[in-house]
Amino acid sequence: MVMNITAITTEEIWKVLGTIPDPDIPVISITELGIVRNVELLHDEHAIVTITPSYSGCPAMGVFREDIISMLQDLGIKQVDINISHSPAWSTDWLSEETRAKLTKYGIAPPENSDHLHTGLFTDTSRTITCPHCQQKDTKRVSQFGSTPCKALWYCNTCDQPFEYFKCY
Ligand SMILES: [Zn+2]
Repeated sequence: MVMNITAITTEEIWKVLGTIPDPDIPVISITELGIVRNVELLHDEHAIVTITPSYSGCPAMGVFREDIISMLQDLGIKQVDINISHSPAWSTDWLSEETRAKLTKYGIAPPENSDHLHTGLFTDTSRTITCPHCQQKDTKRVSQFGSTPCKALWYCNTCDQPFEYFKCY
């Protein structure tokens, strides 16, 4: 019997999934965003990937679902199942400090504390978001929606530049 020397590990699967960019924020991957919750590997040929959809309204789920399946099939996994989990609900609190720093570097203000979570869309009109360009707080919200529904458009009065704010969920 020949040993399968290229046996795939869940670590490798995580690594591959970590190369799939979030369709809305390409600078971070779907694993950094916390969308991939669990990876299970059965008999080296059947992977079950559990994902939790992020912010509702971002029409991106279908896109990376296909990416996950095709990339894992490229690894040699015959069957890839995507399991969708809605509980616990995805939260921007799952973003690591490193991921937040990446967002800032990319010019997107990372979500700030989600204490006010679910208290309504308009609570953040009075909030102050730190400008990702100059780190000043003299900013104002221009529009509730930026290039995608999960981002709002803000403007910095200090450096006179618009920026996007990744809203809390
Ligand atoms: Zn600024």
